[in-house]
Amino acid sequence: MEQAQSKYPTHQEIDTLVEQSRFNYYAGKLPDSLSLAQDALEKATTLHYDKGIIFATAWISYALLGLGKPDDALAEAQKALPLAEELGDPEPLALIIRANANVYALTGQLEQAYELRLRDHKICLELDDKQAVTISYYNLALLQIDMKQLDEALENAHQSLKLAEEHDFTISAGYANGLIGETLIELSRFDEAEKYYSKALEIEEQNSSNLNIPNYYMGLGRCAFERQDYETALDYQLRSITLEEELKDFKGMALASVNAGITYNAMGDNAQATKLFNDSIELANKGDFSPTVLSCYQLMSDSYASVGNYQAAFDSLKKYSELNERLHNEGLAKQFATMQAKFDVETQRREAEINRLKNVELSAALDELEEAKDAAETANKAKSAFLASMSHEIRTPMNAILGFSELLSKTITDNPQKEYLNVIRISGKSLLSLINDILDLSKVEAGKMKLEWAPCDVAGVCKEMVQIFSQKAERKRIQLSVDFSDGFPSAVVIDELRLRQTLMNLIGNAIKFTESGSVKLVAKSEELGDDAATLRFEVIDTGIGIPKDQISKIFGVFEQVSGQSATKFGGTGLGLAISKRLCQMMGGDIQVASEVDKGSTFSIILKGIALAPETVLLPDEHSEDVPNVQFKPCKILVVDDVEQNRLLVKSYLEGQTIDFTEAANGKDAFDAILHDPPTLIITDLRMPEMDGKQLNKLLKNDSRLSQIPIIVFTASAMKEDQEALRKEFGGYIQKPFNQTELIRSLMEILPFEEQETTDGSSNATQQSSRSEDTLSEQERQNLTPLLETLKSEQTTAEKISKTLLIDDAELFASRMQEEAHSFNYPPLNKWGESLATHATLFDAEGILDDLSRFQQLVENLETSLRENRETAP
Ligand code: ADP
Repeated sequence: MEQAQSKYPTHQEIDTLVEQSRFNYYAGKLPDSLSLAQDALEKATTLHYDKGIIFATAWISYALLGLGKPDDALAEAQKALPLAEELGDPEPLALIIRANANVYALTGQLEQAYELRLRDHKICLELDDKQAVTISYYNLALLQIDMKQLDEALENAHQSLKLAEEHDFTISAGYANGLIGETLIELSRFDEAEKYYSKALEIEEQNSSNLNIPNYYMGLGRCAFERQDYETALDYQLRSITLEEELKDFKGMALASVNAGITYNAMGDNAQATKLFNDSIELANKGDFSPTVLSCYQLMSDSYASVGNYQAAFDSLKKYSELNERLHNEGLAKQFATMQAKFDVETQRREAEINRLKNVELSAALDELEEAKDAAETANKAKSAFLASMSHEIRTPMNAILGFSELLSKTITDNPQKEYLNVIRISGKSLLSLINDILDLSKVEAGKMKLEWAPCDVAGVCKEMVQIFSQKAERKRIQLSVDFSDGFPSAVVIDELRLRQTLMNLIGNAIKFTESGSVKLVAKSEELGDDAATLRFEVIDTGIGIPKDQISKIFGVFEQVSGQSATKFGGTGLGLAISKRLCQMMGGDIQVASEVDKGSTFSIILKGIALAPETVLLPDEHSEDVPNVQFKPCKILVVDDVEQNRLLVKSYLEGQTIDFTEAANGKDAFDAILHDPPTLIITDLRMPEMDGKQLNKLLKNDSRLSQIPIIVFTASAMKEDQEALRKEFGGYIQKPFNQTELIRSLMEILPFEEQETTDGSSNATQQSSRSEDTLSEQERQNLTPLLETLKSEQTTAEKISKTLLIDDAELFASRMQEEAHSFNYPPLNKWGESLATHATLFDAEGILDDLSRFQQLVENLETSLRENRETAP
């Protein structure tokens, strides 16, 4: 049974050990107290008995401190504090707080000690534990004496005494009396102090406790000394030394010795005085109680000075100041280390907390993101579906509006009515392109939008825009005008539809957000070169303006200036988003300058826009000029540093079976030629890195490449240079050139076949039959089923002529082009292209024209097949 007990200690056994440790501590038996507490700690740890661990640790700390090991004491006390805080039981918590406070107080770290004392006091009050409260008042007062808050100390010491007397806590009453005595001495109220000390001594003696008696003797000695009753004083002080010796309290001995020395000094016994002073220093050093040594030096110095021994006083003071400085530095270092440790612990705690919160937040945020992503994807799909169906629903009635107003314009002769109709047509076209562009927003965002570069009368577009908005502006009594800078080019290569749309958005906005004043469109050309320019279109209004903080926002998708009246202005917040993206695609940008209540200026800046000859803008005359030829399949390399010039060449040669490659300078061109020699090179003259002349020289010097024909185009050559260039290169075109000029130049070099004309004239039939002369029997057999197909499609053509449904026309055109490719029959392909173009442009007249020519096409094919059969052997 006993064995079992020693093997498995109970909580009760541990509590008893703790109790014994405490008792021994108060009895001044510090080593015993320590070993009992250590035993208790070991057992409590095996049992995971937290409360026992905390209690035991507290008494270990007390005992270690009493034994002059403050650092160890502090380490122990600090170790148990977090455990006590975690446990939350106020009783062990208060005890361990007290143990910590004790170490701080006795090592001179008063601020820390005071903080903990207050915490302890609060817990005791909350617990309503009268005895603990009595002690906590005592402890606060004790600390306040050291902090020189003597009035507060006296007040708290009295509170402690009052409670102790009320509840018969005699030992505490003794302590409180002693403390009041000590405070009164500090306040130089020696007579009163003596009374309290006497009372304290009496109680202590009654309770046969001797721990504090040396202190009371010292206090009483001091009071006697102040009365100049040196005999009595010395008697108390020597008794104190003896008692401290019994208690093995070196610090107490040192303090008692120095006080006795002082008394001897006062009594004129210098030899005894010096001996006791030396004893005191030695004792204090033995226990390494540096602050005690310090006060010994101070007291010695005072004492020597009071008896006129200034040399000794000075020496003591010197030692005092040296030690003081050392201690101060050490104290600072210690305080710093303590603070650093606290800081580290706190930082770690906060970091852990932040990480914990972050993880919680992150996973919540991730969930939210996931949900938002799913919702966005669903919404995006719904949006696409909606846009697709809206596309169809809007385009169908728009076909009718545009198609029939086109037809109507041929029959109406009345001038104002014709004007109105024109506005309907133009607005309809713009509206349709706008709808298409909104539908294409997803294309832009996906990077799938392709620009259509073509020669365009850009000034005409500007004028048209102003015309479209003129009625609206008039209704608002806003002056609307357009202005062109000197030398503004009449024709440039640009995507007209996109430019139109962008201008339409900016002018529309300007009128919408302007109540009075003007809206001006200013078209300027900057950096106008031989073949390219920077174009700037400014839309300047005197409207409501845009607040500074919103300016960057308005280009976002579905973004409007916040707080703007939806009913007044309407809109979707899409226009600027699309416009900006389109301008960026055209190698430019939109900028805005605005001031609230003054107005806004939106500027479209398009860089490196290629110039085109005016002649290309006269389609009717020029279409007659364009030779209707089909070049034999070939490869052409186009070399120009302006991209649109290269595109222009390609667009002029659309419908030809030509494989194009491009290069932006002579050097890249040469690399491309080496890699894959073309049939023909068309090159600009002036280019960075390597110009046209250098390229030509390189090629002419290379026997493998010298035979490749080259056409050079340039804008700047003088008349006399033109001939030289033609000789040097072999071919020459003056920039800007139109389609006819390009094709005619190519005809000088490349093999070609003449084609039937699109009007189905007899001449065309003749040409066609001539070209079909070469049809082999194989080709004839191949084309026979095509004739059948075309015949069966005649009803489709007739149907579309009646309904004028653009979608059907587009479908029909692409179906026929597919047939043309699979039967290798170019005339049908060309016809399909024409229908497709007219359908895209909503050109009803053109569509009707194409459809009526379908009949002609069928007949032509039939004739050539028959003629072929007749001439066949
Ligand atoms: P919407 O006009 O359909 O709302 P936009 O993208 O074209 O969409 O314009 C976005 C917003 O930018 C407008 O709603 C308006 O708040 C602001 N804004 C555009 N142009 C002007 C202007 N000329 N003056 C004042 N505010 C403008």
